Amino acid sequence: TPAPLFADLPGDISVSFEFFPPKSEKMEEQLWDAITQLAPLQPGFVSVTYGAGGTTRERTHATVARIARETALVAAAHLTCVGASKDEIAEIADQYWDAGVRHIVALRGDPPPADGGRFVPHPEGYASAADLVAGLKARHDFDISVAAYPEVHPEALSAEADLDNLKRKLDAGATRAITQFFFSTDAYFRFLDKVLAAGISAPILPGIMPVTSFAAIRRMSANTEIPAEMERLFDGLDERPGPRALIAAVAAADLCNRLYAGGVRDFHFYTLNKHEQTYAICHLLGLRPQP
Ligand code: FAD
Repeated sequence: TPAPLFADLPGDISVSFEFFPPKSEKMEEQLWDAITQLAPLQPGFVSVTYGAGGTTRERTHATVARIARETALVAAAHLTCVGASKDEIAEIADQYWDAGVRHIVALRGDPPPADGGRFVPHPEGYASAADLVAGLKARHDFDISVAAYPEVHPEALSAEADLDNLKRKLDAGATRAITQFFFSTDAYFRFLDKVLAAGISAPILPGIMPVTSFAAIRRMSANTEIPAEMERLFDGLDERPGPRALIAAVAAADLCNRLYAGGVRDFHFYTLNKHEQTYAICHLLGLRPQP
């Protein structure tokens, strides 16, 4: 008989949660409901994304500032290089610093889809996330997280070049990386081996994405391996969002369970501003709310 799932997990893990800035009052309510429900799990930090092309500059700032003001959570602001000069970035950084925000997730960003794919740096801007990290660090002593790609960033010249780039970001002053979502534990552990061999000792938090739409996951997964058993797991559930969400939570918890067995203790969740799946996964991993 197989070992009972999740039976012995003591919950000795640390989690972080990612949200996106709400577009409407209704979405704002959903976000704050999610934050309120997830806060008792005592995340190390919660982060708020920055819309493609910097389109959510004000909304990201307002959300992060409100979290910093109204909760005891460590709020992290995502920030990208897209469409902004170095002076504009400095101004945004100053505003965060003045609002008490000390953690930035520094990214290059992607151009807005209307601009047709290729990233072109602003003439007076930063050309890459590594440059942005250096610029932010020179301005204020932020705690900085950066992105990592277990299955290689689609624009990278090679896996080695992508790893060199991650190293540059950490050498420029970032203290941890958060990965793109993945579904193959082997892909993550192979990447960790390479990271360690490259002399990187910073934590590489796995980014956990509970599936909400399998069709969307398939579309977004340029370089991301979708294991055959996952295809089977979600087969026939396209029109059944309820069961799909339940199965997605179990599948993501199973992924985390396997990461845990391999020694991983830090997990970053792409919550999509919902609490049920993320809470359920954390619960299955043994995490319980703290008063
Ligand atoms: P970089 O680290 O600059 O790398 C971009 C590409 O350029 C890579 O292929 C890299 O290998 C290559 N490269 C960089 N420097 C060099 C060099 N000197 N020589 C050769 N090649 C080089 N996007 C948003 O718009 N908003 C968000 O809030 C957001 N949050 C994210 C959070 C996480 C955890 C992750 C994983 C991604 C997020 N993204 C976000 C997406 C991200 O902006 C895109 O993946 C983007 O295409 C790359 O950003 P980066 O910071 O990894 O860029």
